[in-house]
Amino acid sequence: MNQSAQHNTIMLPKAAPAKRMNIMTKPIGSACNIDCTYCYYLSKEELLGHERGCATQMSEEMLDTYIKTYIEQQNFPEIVFHWQGGEPTLLGVNFFRDVVRLQKKYCPKGVKIENNLQTNGTLLNDDWGKFLSKNNFMVGLSIDGPEMIHNAYRTNRSGRGSFKQTMKGVAVLHKHKVNFATLTCVNNLTGSNPLEVYRFLRDEIRSPQMQFIPIVEPKSFRETAPQKWSEEEVIFQGMPETEPSHPNSIVESWCVSAHQWGDFLCTIFDEWLENDIGKVNVPYFESCVETWMGRVNPLCTLAPMCGKGLAIEHNGDVFACDHYVYPEYKLGNINDAKLEDLQFSKGQEEFGRAKESALPKQCRECTYQFACFGECPKNRFIKTLDGETGLNYLCAGWKQFFSHIDPYISMVVATMGYPVNKGINGDAMTIKFK
Ligand code: SF4
Ligand code: SF4
Repeated sequence: MNQSAQHNTIMLPKAAPAKRMNIMTKPIGSACNIDCTYCYYLSKEELLGHERGCATQMSEEMLDTYIKTYIEQQNFPEIVFHWQGGEPTLLGVNFFRDVVRLQKKYCPKGVKIENNLQTNGTLLNDDWGKFLSKNNFMVGLSIDGPEMIHNAYRTNRSGRGSFKQTMKGVAVLHKHKVNFATLTCVNNLTGSNPLEVYRFLRDEIRSPQMQFIPIVEPKSFRETAPQKWSEEEVIFQGMPETEPSHPNSIVESWCVSAHQWGDFLCTIFDEWLENDIGKVNVPYFESCVETWMGRVNPLCTLAPMCGKGLAIEHNGDVFACDHYVYPEYKLGNINDAKLEDLQFSKGQEEFGRAKESALPKQCRECTYQFACFGECPKNRFIKTLDGETGLNYLCAGWKQFFSHIDPYISMVVATMGYPVNKGINGDAMTIKFK
């Protein structure tokens, strides 16, 4: 999952429904120059029938068709392209020069086009830096923390860590003043070292925006799509086998545990609140301010609906979400169907609404349902204590986080002069900044 904002359909002044898309584009499929242990996308080579290690690249014709239709089928004054992988910089800077050329060719008057590029940073050089800066690309840089932590799982095929190459990429971004955010995977190691990771990103990387992604994968994730898990895999909340370190764990050993996730978020929240609020953007924290004000969280994982962020593979196959790139969730191919028909299809709408409608009773009765909405459905593979399926593996961590931040977020909202519409309101007045 990434934390890209997914926007609900809004109404234009003439009451025409706005058509806005946020499609994660995989122009090189899952091909990558490194081999991170926890990558959820490397296994797509086999799952989708692509040859392992082959640079399956979006063809010139497909790129032209995609850019044209992506632009044509939106009526929003701002269109955002999201380039991901695998590792999209493997395609070379000339591929993206072509992207920009095609975007200019098809861009209607008055429409602004933006580009987000997610990269491991290892291939960035001055040529890239100049291009990204000149064309105002927003870069998402994957980095997990200081060298020891980063190199534990972000390795090349011979097992060597990628930290030094990634740091060269960081230097390129700073040298060319490229807009960037960091994306940090919270696994069993990062999860145990919240302050080291946070302070490294703040002080060494000088990250203006820190995105954190919990690494959660059931052992069968390479071949089994979410919601298609077998009965034996779905066990009760709190059972020892939900711990990644348990020998018979239902998740991979490198996953973050629910309590680690809660501790991680609470620890860095305290540091952020004391020292960095207003200076460092942590989307998980800032978006909660919006939630407590009574607005919809712009992060899909904490919003009531999914379904606005499709994924498109290099061959034009379109899937329900970046985390649902499995044959069962393929919506079609842009050679055979219109993108807007896939995005706004009945099936995709049902997929989106199921995020809230499929919540178990434990979530529906939870004090923090308004902030959590059961988080991402791909992580809902445990049972509630009453035996109901569909509970999020990270539930205990989310509950710990929301109850920890509740009074502080209420106070932030009140300090900004807005009414506190959610949470335990009264406490806002009794808590003071340290
Ligand atoms: S399944 Fe839903 S919550 Fe999860 S990443 Fe996709 S859109 Fe976001
Ligand atoms: S904190 Fe747990 S019970 Fe509450 S909404 Fe989230 S997943 Fe459901």
